[in-house]
Amino acid sequence: MLATADKSLAAVADEWLARFERALADPAKLRDLFRADSHFRDVLALTWQLRTVDGADAIVAEIVAQAPRARPAGFRTDPARTPPRRVTRAGAEAVEAIFRFETAEGYGCGVVRLTADASGATKAWTLHTALDGLKGHEERIGRARPTGSSYSRDFRGPNWLDLRKAAAAYADRDPAVLVVGGGQAGLSIAARLTQLDIDTLIVDRWPRIGDNWRKRYHALTLHNQVHVNHLPYMHFPPSWPAYIPKDKIAAWFEAYVESMELNYWTGTELLSGRYDDAAQRWTVTLQRLDGSERTMHPRHVVMATGASAIPIRPEIPTLENFRGTVLHSSQYEDGEAWQGKKALIIGSGNSGHDIAQDLASSGAEATIVQRSSTMVVNVEPSAQLPYALYDEGLPLEDCDLITTSMPLSLVRKSHILLTEQARKLDQKLLDGLERRGFRLNFGEDGAGWQFKYLTRGGGYYFNVGCSDLIVEGKVGLIQYSDIAGFIADGARMKSGETLSADLIVLATGYQGQDALVGKLFGEDVAARVGPIWGFGEDQELRAMFARTRQPGLWFIAGSFAQCRIYSKYLGLQIKACELGLLSPVRPAA
Ligand SMILES: Cc1cc2nc3c(=O)[nH]c(=O)nc-3n(C[C@H](O)[C@H](O)[C@H](O)COP(=O)(O)OP(=O)(O)OC[C@H]3O[C@@H](n4cnc5c(N)ncnc54)[C@H](O)[C@@H]3O)c2cc1C
Repeated sequence: MLATADKSLAAVADEWLARFERALADPAKLRDLFRADSHFRDVLALTWQLRTVDGADAIVAEIVAQAPRARPAGFRTDPARTPPRRVTRAGAEAVEAIFRFETAEGYGCGVVRLTADASGATKAWTLHTALDGLKGHEERIGRARPTGSSYSRDFRGPNWLDLRKAAAAYADRDPAVLVVGGGQAGLSIAARLTQLDIDTLIVDRWPRIGDNWRKRYHALTLHNQVHVNHLPYMHFPPSWPAYIPKDKIAAWFEAYVESMELNYWTGTELLSGRYDDAAQRWTVTLQRLDGSERTMHPRHVVMATGASAIPIRPEIPTLENFRGTVLHSSQYEDGEAWQGKKALIIGSGNSGHDIAQDLASSGAEATIVQRSSTMVVNVEPSAQLPYALYDEGLPLEDCDLITTSMPLSLVRKSHILLTEQARKLDQKLLDGLERRGFRLNFGEDGAGWQFKYLTRGGGYYFNVGCSDLIVEGKVGLIQYSDIAGFIADGARMKSGETLSADLIVLATGYQGQDALVGKLFGEDVAARVGPIWGFGEDQELRAMFARTRQPGLWFIAGSFAQCRIYSKYLGLQIKACELGLLSPVRPAA
């Protein structure tokens, strides 16, 4: 525990920050400021990368190498933000302080967590630095908002609506950035880029903004709470329910596009793209709903196509014998049509459970076919545990900064602790499921659903009732390994019993964005980009939110919170490329 005698926590933090700044060019003094087991995560401010370095010696080497170019200075706690306070992170206590600083190119902010060593000296356990804005290219928000005089004082010229229509029509120009996909990922990055004054067009193949949520199953509400899910700049109204229904979020997307003045072409699919290295721009082919095609030459393409662009339909031996209806979960809309019928749902992740519950509540007889062990966590309170920080009443941007500041190894540690806590809370349900033969698993090292999501995008179920139905025997459960094969009217079990079915739903997930890149841009580009999502050796999500080895190709995806947080950094990188401050290619490792 850090003893602060009569000093305020802010004074302790400022003292450390001042010593840090003085030591920037002096490795020995710098080394003295960090615990041997400390962590440093930089998001663009010093390295122009998303970069985590572990261990005091490596941290010192990194900072000493980067400081002469970045020229960081002016480190001090930020009186406008949450004051330094004592916290417990990943099970350990520390003093956590938010600070600000500047670099040659921009404004920065960060978080330092301080502890005392055996002699009582103050040492950093974690240090995080992040780029907050580029000097001379500040977002035009708040007091810097546009005056609007360009349209409001000119009685003969075009008014606001005329200008908006012309901007979105792209009749005589192409955008600098094409964002493919208009879900939360696409909206977030387009809003950031628009604020950074970069001409940006979103295209989405659905006919209406918000259809990506609207077309999901009838009963869907978001699985985490409203205050974690705000889009950038525009918060949801305080009257909104804790769990936002899908059609409400879809309607909000329409309002968001309108309010944030985003250029959005619905019913428009990206068919293909090819990069011209000499001209440093893409040639992309877009197809509109009426079948017409438009060629554009954006300098950047941001893939915001989500995790569900290409359904996985696994080769299931003997399934071809089945004479009933086979649907992938992406084709399933609602259970009404299946009232009084029997359904087998292959897959025990979120989609499988949600569809089984929807069918059961519509009067169908639903049986889940479990292929591999799955994590189950009650949506409340257990699945909300990771968001406790957002419940403390801190400003959203402080919560986001604190979230970003955690190095991967500590995030993992805290999720192991949270998973243990969730298992205790959900014990009764989990015991009931095991009694029914459900095979549970809690992720590698017990790191739970967050790590399953970040590494493979699935493998868990947030229980909104289906697990209870399984325990009560109202939704059936069988193991895939107990099926001998499929027959015309269902499944023949190894026991000799027949399980009849009218419908088989393949809740078997989706291919990653890697497959889509190959399809749209060719295998050369896919090879250059490499694997997408899941953690790389650098402890960051691969190819996400940062430059790739393919110039001008960027990726954004994830939860609402991830899209809100990382769209800011992705936007700043694209702006820096446009300004010539940054090469658009990720440096070789
Ligand atoms: C049932 C369910 C509940 C969830 N609940 C939550 C929650 O509570 N909180 C949370 O944070 N996350 C939740 N998620 C996870 C995640 O937030 C969603 O999957 C979300 O939709 C992802 O947003 P996205 O913008 O990355 O992708 P998507 O919403 O999938 O949007 C991608 C868009 O890209 C378009 N597209 C793809 N290819 C092309 C192309 N070639 N040309 C043009 N357009 C194209 C698609 O039409 C689509 O509209 C949930 C997911 C599911 C399935």
